[in-house]
Amino acid sequence: MLCLYIIMVSFITSKMSLADLFIVPLVAVILVSITVSTAQGSALEFQELYNQTTDFGISILTTENFNETLFVILPDNDNTLCTDNVVWLVQFYNSWCGHCQHFAPSYKSVANSTIPWREFVKVGVVDCSVRKNSPLCNQYDVQMYPTIMFFPPKTKVGALGKKFTGPHTVPGLYNGILDYLDQEGFPPEMVLVTSSTIDELWNSLPEDKENLALIVEPIDSSLGKDVLLSTLGDLHVLTARRITVLNRALVEALGDVAITGPYPQLWLLDRKAKTSNKIAVSSGGSEDLIAAIFAIDDELAVQKGIVKPVRHPVHYMEADHQVETPVKKADSMEIKPEFDHVQSLDITSAIIYMFSTEVATHKTIDGEQLVALRRFVKALTDLVPLPSPANVAFQKLSGHLAEVTFTEPKRMLKALSAAGYDVEKLPVKWVGCAGSQPGRRGYPCGLWQLLHTLTVNTYRNNTNTEGTLIPTDKETEWSSNALDEEAGILTTIFGYIRHFFSCDDCRLNFLREADGLKAQTKSMSNEEAVLWLWKVHNGVNRRLVGDITEDPAHPKIQFPSQTQCPQCRLADNSFDEHEVKNYFLRFYEVKDVPTTWNVRDPKHRQLVAAQEVANILTNTSSSSSGSSSTIWIVLPGTFCLMVAFLGFRQWRRQQQKSHNGVWGLGYSRPRVKWM
Ligand SMILES: Cc1cc2nc3c(=O)[nH]c(=O)nc-3n(C[C@H](O)[C@H](O)[C@H](O)COP(=O)(O)OP(=O)(O)OC[C@H]3O[C@@H](n4cnc5c(N)ncnc54)[C@H](O)[C@@H]3O)c2cc1C
Repeated sequence: MLCLYIIMVSFITSKMSLADLFIVPLVAVILVSITVSTAQGSALEFQELYNQTTDFGISILTTENFNETLFVILPDNDNTLCTDNVVWLVQFYNSWCGHCQHFAPSYKSVANSTIPWREFVKVGVVDCSVRKNSPLCNQYDVQMYPTIMFFPPKTKVGALGKKFTGPHTVPGLYNGILDYLDQEGFPPEMVLVTSSTIDELWNSLPEDKENLALIVEPIDSSLGKDVLLSTLGDLHVLTARRITVLNRALVEALGDVAITGPYPQLWLLDRKAKTSNKIAVSSGGSEDLIAAIFAIDDELAVQKGIVKPVRHPVHYMEADHQVETPVKKADSMEIKPEFDHVQSLDITSAIIYMFSTEVATHKTIDGEQLVALRRFVKALTDLVPLPSPANVAFQKLSGHLAEVTFTEPKRMLKALSAAGYDVEKLPVKWVGCAGSQPGRRGYPCGLWQLLHTLTVNTYRNNTNTEGTLIPTDKETEWSSNALDEEAGILTTIFGYIRHFFSCDDCRLNFLREADGLKAQTKSMSNEEAVLWLWKVHNGVNRRLVGDITEDPAHPKIQFPSQTQCPQCRLADNSFDEHEVKNYFLRFYEVKDVPTTWNVRDPKHRQLVAAQEVANILTNTSSSSSGSSSTIWIVLPGTFCLMVAFLGFRQWRRQQQKSHNGVWGLGYSRPRVKWM
């Protein structure tokens, strides 16, 4: 408002020329559109499952801070840039992946409960759905989400970590960390003592260590590891070690109490006094032993006159607090009406996202992967109404893939960019697939719609208006058998999902369905393929009703709903498959892309003007979610920029006038005064 006021005053005091009256709105429009599109682009891409402020113990890693957070220059390691003396656990996730969303509370819980181990174990996350993190996810060869990697101490920058393959549960991950530390023998103090006498034990320890806390525990217990990891980094006088009852000789050397149990026991040994005393027995958890060790260490420090630095505060949080309950549909949450047909921007955004993040994370592509990608790109060019210049770019890519036996995504992206379609820079905008909150819908929704578009258009393509099949030339057209090994549309879809779809859980569930189908039959018509994919998708919808991944404003339904297609339902509310197929022909007809597009005539498609793409982008900017709120932030900012622009112009004129009274070219500019 203040800026507006200043502008009005400028007008009224006649400081503006008539030309300014045209220039200013023009500048305003340009600035508004640039700022709105930037704000939307980032808002729609920004999704987070982890939060630096509330998720204690988790470092949010990005392309910008990854190296500086994980790596240091270690003089004792030839001055190389490598991880410090800690193990890093890094989860590369994807915020739209349902399994990643489910796993987040467990990951947070483990990160939280291992905060006391921070001297030895650090936990981080990278969101690979954020496109600026793609180079990082690519560098670490992350193709499926979530991918969890351990980086041992002294890992050199860029070296791949070891993948965690255990169960994605709290105990699975917790035990996975302990097992990994065991394998690495890190920290060395945690490795089981093998000495069979107390003298031998003292000889294995540094000479300046005179007091030892020794844990005696059953063979399958991990409590001693937790106690050592939680205390070792914070001890000032004591040191600590562990043995199991399998070290019978040392247990006997401690005395009868050590032999009879119960365990785990905590013993205090004094090198000079040659004493060993049992001082505590765990009552179940590790807290009492940790507390006992810290109490002894404090007491010894006082005795030795050591001024102890204050111990790090331990942010224990109840694991229960971390567990996120499924999002319940708020009574006030408005259910968003669905579009009556698929939106071309969702389809193109899915393709842009697919190539810039999913395909791009592969270092090289050859063999079966190349065959799968070759077919899929061919399907995109033949069957999807891509706006110009995407159609030309993908046709070129299709040609390239047909000729090579090996390729690199980097090269493919460059080729697309050279053909005018830079998927790394193009905005990803969701319209029909826009979520009501960050982290909802987006890519998986766009991908489903792309897959349905492919099956529907293959059916449409192979069928004339009377519904009879058009004979196909196997080499150039899509087969009338959707399961054909060479030119079947379902085989093509299965290939992409198998080799490239990065949501691992979704991929495996989908491939289970695909393998089940292939076990039953080798042949399926394109009409049946449309219905098969519809049923599989509805099966996923059924499974996800009420799930934490469900967008409350877009509840999972058996598609199409009664409202979307009343004629698709029979009297008992079951589906009339013939009507469903007809509805799909309407719903999956991409109407807002060039009207000139004709799937049977590839040449015709190339005629589509770039202007049409620009129109689509502009129209959608105003309809995408989030625009109404950003506009109120953006507009005042734009006015301020206009004021700055006008001020600068005015100042420059005055400067020039004061020099020679004329414009730089030697003539006075005529001025028309505002009323
Ligand atoms: C191949 C694949 C497998 C997946 N598997 C899983 C999984 O196992 N577990 C998991 O948690 N998530 C899975 N997902 C993600 C999940 O299915 C949704 O995509 C995600 O939850 C986003 O849901 P959405 O509300 O945007 O609607 P989506 O289910 O993504 O649907 C997108 C749009 O497609 C249309 N549509 C809906 N149902 C149908 C149908 N039956 N036929 C045709 N069109 C339809 C509607 O217009 C809808 O808005 C998978 C995604 C894909 C692409």
